[in-house]
Amino acid sequence: MAMWPEDPATWRPGIALPCRRRTLGWPRLRNSVRPAMSPSDATATVPQLAVAVALPVPLPRTFDYAVPPEFEPRVAPGHRVEAPFGSRRLHGIVLRRFPIAESELPPERLRPLLAAPDDEPLLPPPVLTLCRFCARYYHNPIGEVLAAAVPAAIRRRKRRKAPPALGVPLATVASPAPVTLTTGQREALAAIEADLAASRFQVSLLQGVTGSGKTEVYLRAIATTLAAGRSALLLVPEIALTPQTLARIRARFPDAAVLHSQQSQRERGDNWERVRRGAARVVVGPRSAVFAPLERLGLVIVDEEHEPSYKQDSAPRYHARDLAIVRAREARCPVVLGSATPSLESWHNARTGRYRRLLLTERPGAAVLPAVEVVDLHEETRAVKGFPFISRRLERALRACLQRGEQAILFLNRRGFSTFLQCRACHEVLTCPRCDLALTYHQSRARAVCHGCERADPPPTRCSACGIGAVHYFGFGTERIEQELALRFPGVRCCRLDSDALADGTDLAETLERFRSGEAQLLVGTQMIARGLDFPNVTVVGVISADTALNLPDFRAAERTFQLLSQVTGRAGRAGLPGLSIIQTFSPGHPAIARAVAHDTDGFIEQELRHRERLGYPPFGRLARIVTSGRRERSTLRHAESLTAALRAHAETAQVLGPAPCPISKLKDRHRFMTLIKAPTRAALEPLLQAFDHAPRPPAGVRCALEIDPVSML
Ligand SMILES: [Zn+2]
Ligand SMILES: [Zn+2]
Repeated sequence: MAMWPEDPATWRPGIALPCRRRTLGWPRLRNSVRPAMSPSDATATVPQLAVAVALPVPLPRTFDYAVPPEFEPRVAPGHRVEAPFGSRRLHGIVLRRFPIAESELPPERLRPLLAAPDDEPLLPPPVLTLCRFCARYYHNPIGEVLAAAVPAAIRRRKRRKAPPALGVPLATVASPAPVTLTTGQREALAAIEADLAASRFQVSLLQGVTGSGKTEVYLRAIATTLAAGRSALLLVPEIALTPQTLARIRARFPDAAVLHSQQSQRERGDNWERVRRGAARVVVGPRSAVFAPLERLGLVIVDEEHEPSYKQDSAPRYHARDLAIVRAREARCPVVLGSATPSLESWHNARTGRYRRLLLTERPGAAVLPAVEVVDLHEETRAVKGFPFISRRLERALRACLQRGEQAILFLNRRGFSTFLQCRACHEVLTCPRCDLALTYHQSRARAVCHGCERADPPPTRCSACGIGAVHYFGFGTERIEQELALRFPGVRCCRLDSDALADGTDLAETLERFRSGEAQLLVGTQMIARGLDFPNVTVVGVISADTALNLPDFRAAERTFQLLSQVTGRAGRAGLPGLSIIQTFSPGHPAIARAVAHDTDGFIEQELRHRERLGYPPFGRLARIVTSGRRERSTLRHAESLTAALRAHAETAQVLGPAPCPISKLKDRHRFMTLIKAPTRAALEPLLQAFDHAPRPPAGVRCALEIDPVSML
């Protein structure tokens, strides 16, 4: 059995995929059966070679095909081929080639490939290795991983000709802006450059408060990498891929390629092809860019490494930060994880010496950390005899800020106008008929909206449960705050940024520009505005409610709240003007809030780590989660129960918990039950994963999704 050490720095991607054809009991597929010999076959040359091909199907195996002799020069590992699968033709990637006699099937039963259209492999060997690791570690079908690694436009392209040979391209590097580095920046850069020069795999955790100049360190390290003739990969959270970030990178590296799932298929395909040809040697992108076809990789950077969006939670499931570390290890190059508020996992690895910690403590220029004040909403509610969306303290600060001609940001991680609708008579909270979620009233659309399935209906006037009570609106989202600001500060321009505003046609870049130029004085928004944005004239940041994430039934709730508060409050006072952040909360004593107020990242993480250690949660153990879902509650639960029992029989040192309804127990008409596996090590999970593969297949309509190292528990 394979042993997985406990952190990505020491994982080793396997080379061979275990062959599960015999053991898994998949029905023998028609694709491996060849029709009876036709007369013309007798004259054709007999294939000598076979290939194992990964096809984009949700099966954890590869498929063997015979290689017609004329295709032989074009079927090395990484090559794209077309193969018959049942009655379909599918594009796949060659993983292995071998003499046909070594196939487990007799040669006459192997079906021949239909096409091998490309002169050169589609994927370079390092990416193939990474895909294999991703399949094995996260228990993903290899074909699905490869399908995610190559843009659809490239997979389906008719024929890729070998481009004219390029020498090592001279990447265009604009000269760096003449800023003086702080001592911390200089030392961090020197450490990374030493790793680069020695071609040494080393994970550095670059920890620096917001505004301490991490990006400048990244950009200079990338320039050094290019100068050494190697390439660089910069991963950023989806949400931080703003026009502002891109402009800053393009100003320094005009040839940088952006690989983004939001791009049109053609645009993404063209960028991918530029990287593949070696014409672009800097790649910037969100999690899927970890599979970028870069060669001679010299540096990997993961910005905001603690961001949950690095975890892909639909198939194929993986954590891009952890894959980035594996990729750097294979390329023998340094990897930099940057954050103001590191994940507990990375912090733990730095503390135990697996990672090197690089600290940026000063903010460049004269900028200082903003003062942070807390408003206790219990006291405020009592004093003003009602719930204040904007407390007296926050209102005073906003007024003073606006009078000075400065700007303010108001943060609330909840969109909509009223966040729940309740019956006055029977007190029922109205939920979506398809999901176990309260409806949110959106005033701009005059609709009651479910945030699980986005179903939007005209708001009910009568309670749907008792049929008589009137419906009243409670709770507040960003729309409500926008309205409140308009009432209290008439004549002051305010813009709102959240996913509703974007869906309603608000242009992100345009809105940010309106705010930057000073045309608007107030900006209200969700986590969309929490990071990556740098506005020199913002001196006040208000957190309308720090409690929204704190009460989620998820063991990472405190960590998320702390990270979000630290990032939001870091927005104020970044360019020499003194900043003030005001946090409104019903739980001023909670460690996540008290430590964020004190800018005490180290203290918070140490306290939270002790808590996790007591519970055996990551980073002190490994988790796997299986969500069983289906439209019929009883059959879904029955399958979840039998699956859980089967796993429990193989638990050994692991603990199998559940099945229990997920916190969101119904989503889009599917009932959801979860089984949680807690194991001391990744290796201890292995027998359970084998048991999962061998478990009886779910009944029709029931699905089981397995997730290794889950990030969200909802
Ligand atoms: Zn009612
Ligand atoms: Zn719904």
